[in-house]
Amino acid sequence: MVPGSMRATTGELFPAPEGTPPARPACEGYASVVLNRPVRTQFTYGVPPQLAGRVRAGMRVAVPFGNRRHVGVVVGVPETPDVDPAKVRLLHEVLDEQPLVGDDLLALTRWMADEYACSWGEALHGVLPAALKRERGPARVLVVAAAPGVGPEQLAELEDRHPKQHRLLRTLLELGDEVELREVLRSLGLSESPARTLARRGLATLRRVVQRREELLTARSDRARPEQLTPDQRRAVDAVGNALAAGEATTFLLRGVTGSGKTEVYLRAIEQALERGRGAIVLVPEIALTPQTVGWFRSRFGEVAVLHSRMTDSTRLAMWQRVRAGEARVVVGARSALFAPLPDLGVVVVDEEHEPSFKQESTPRYHARDVAVRRAREAGAVCILGSATPSLESWHRAAAGDYRRLELPTRIGGAPMPPVDVVDVRAEPRGSTVFSRELRQRMESAVARGEQVILFLNRRGWAPVLWCRECKETVRCEQCDQALTFHQRLKRAVCHRCCEEVAPPAACPTCTAPALRYLGAGSERIEHELRALLPDARVLRMDSDTMRRREDYEQALDRFGRGEVDVLVGTQMIAKGLDFPRVTVVGIVSADVALHLPDFRAAERTFQLVSQVAGRAGRGELPGRIVVQTGAPEHPAIRLAAGHDFDGFCRWEDELRRELGYPPHGRLLRAVLEDEEEARVADAARDWAERLRAELPDALSVLGPAPAPIAFVRKRHRHHLLVKAPPDALEAFAAARSLLTDLAGRTSRPRATVDVDPASVL
Ligand code: ADP
Ligand code: ZN
Repeated sequence: MVPGSMRATTGELFPAPEGTPPARPACEGYASVVLNRPVRTQFTYGVPPQLAGRVRAGMRVAVPFGNRRHVGVVVGVPETPDVDPAKVRLLHEVLDEQPLVGDDLLALTRWMADEYACSWGEALHGVLPAALKRERGPARVLVVAAAPGVGPEQLAELEDRHPKQHRLLRTLLELGDEVELREVLRSLGLSESPARTLARRGLATLRRVVQRREELLTARSDRARPEQLTPDQRRAVDAVGNALAAGEATTFLLRGVTGSGKTEVYLRAIEQALERGRGAIVLVPEIALTPQTVGWFRSRFGEVAVLHSRMTDSTRLAMWQRVRAGEARVVVGARSALFAPLPDLGVVVVDEEHEPSFKQESTPRYHARDVAVRRAREAGAVCILGSATPSLESWHRAAAGDYRRLELPTRIGGAPMPPVDVVDVRAEPRGSTVFSRELRQRMESAVARGEQVILFLNRRGWAPVLWCRECKETVRCEQCDQALTFHQRLKRAVCHRCCEEVAPPAACPTCTAPALRYLGAGSERIEHELRALLPDARVLRMDSDTMRRREDYEQALDRFGRGEVDVLVGTQMIAKGLDFPRVTVVGIVSADVALHLPDFRAAERTFQLVSQVAGRAGRGELPGRIVVQTGAPEHPAIRLAAGHDFDGFCRWEDELRRELGYPPHGRLLRAVLEDEEEARVADAARDWAERLRAELPDALSVLGPAPAPIAFVRKRHRHHLLVKAPPDALEAFAAARSLLTDLAGRTSRPRATVDVDPASVL
């Protein structure tokens, strides 16, 4: 059944005009309704007689709000209103025959609203498939393509006068295929208007379609079911099985080194849940949601529902309904799959639980790992958090006994963890290439032996800095406080923050001297240098410039897997989950990119990255070797990652966090204020900080206000402040959270956001 296909209509199609007190018609009971608005309130509506008995919690309703009609979700059906009955307006329509959202998801979203400082309506809105947020059925999506016959000539005409249209058309020509408009605009940081203009000029075609091809839904890839589990896997699977049998909602932290067979533990845990008639949800980071991953689950369980944010509305809706009807008992997906309406949930798996992408960076700003733990507990289900490098938060909770620890300390087949050589780039001869002597030599001999190499650098483009030798200034984006990156293929200087680009200046924009130099290296330049170094090797670059579409990414990995590529160069896109037995050398061109970010998690992220990338080598019979280039070889994040010493790193980092009172030794709240006028931001931030300091208990510390590390984006100044609460100051934390929410709710300029447990403080 498509919710909304059967409607009960009151006949009242137009809302009561604002201000005219409605002549009170009789009403049969009331409905508490939440709306997708940042008002932390439930609204009471009367149920008109013709809808009596048809309104239940979890159904969508159309209601008058102000002088407009809104879709909301019923969260309760009180017999008496909590406001003056004379003021209660009648709801217009009930949009569902059955509750769309079960009691479990109602309770979960209510908790999320409190936890993550948003309204219940916003939390619910964030959870429903887009198609259910409107009244009518699934909207069609707009797809765009370059018009037939359009080519470089037309592109060149746009270059100088219409940079946005130029950027879009160039991308469409490169893609050569229809793409979803929303997606391409998002990746280019554009609004719809350049697309409309291109279409009007006949340079692009725009078309509405209901459904797009969804590659993931036909994914196949086999993973043989091993006859024998390793003793460590056996222990883990039994522990999960026992918890399921006993109906205990245990959370497990499964730490297993890369290649230790964590996925097999997930698969067996799900098997056990299914045997008991219970379902499973598996969350993976968006980037790891590949046909290969989905295929593993499908080859084991047949029917598997896939849910992720880039699906079209109608596909998502169809999936959602199949899950709700109990037709698919296993759900695999990115963050949002956590809210699949799966009846009788038995297992929730969060793979790569340390991944920052599990935190949503828009309202509701929830952390999917933490919500997963909550959802599993409420459902009496087992939760498995898996990673080779668990987050410090989870490590800490396991140490405190909140989570049960499961360990897979060795690789399947007993292959040793590969040795890691840390190369101090400061000791390399000056003016040499981006590759140290050691890295060069290891790559050369691996390729000569017919083995494969992975080279990692977390930075795209050719040169990340355009620097003037005369005045020592760096060329920056006019809209952001961000150095422009030179892209050789595009011949453009690009802002990686707002996506704007300009022709690279011939002279320094500050002092006009023709003395600009291109400093540093991104993946584009690495690829180039590699081709020069290894002219016979087949080199493939994977970053978001070369891999515009999901299919590109998958095809590239297939080619690498088939041995058609010798060296794979890439950004974080290649850091995860790749399992290629012929890779014997992995090089990290610079481990320092993330290390020096002004964020208290910089060391943790660097440790995780080096460990993850290092895990890509020596996965088969051939021994592997890792080369890490850095200017800070003695930094514990690097030294301990090189020694594969996870516990050592956690102890070191945990001690620092304890001293500073940062998570997991306390919780953080962050408020960010943004506006085009800096004075307005600074004043508001100061006022907020004063209010916080005056009204909050001394247990809390208020840091700031100060300009955020990323202080200027798209012409908006950003100031932030942090509230730090010790772990036991639960009430004080809640008070700070509601004060901040309150302040944010009453501010529209500057724009304000409140982030609870922020994943980044940049
Ligand atoms: P992880 O997720 O921990 O990195 P995987 O689950 O991908 O590791 O397992 C690594 C490899 O070992 C895979 O190719 C998998 O098929 C294989 N494998 C897993 N468990 C076993 C087992 N018990 N016996 C034999 N091979 C196994
Ligand atoms: Zn910019």
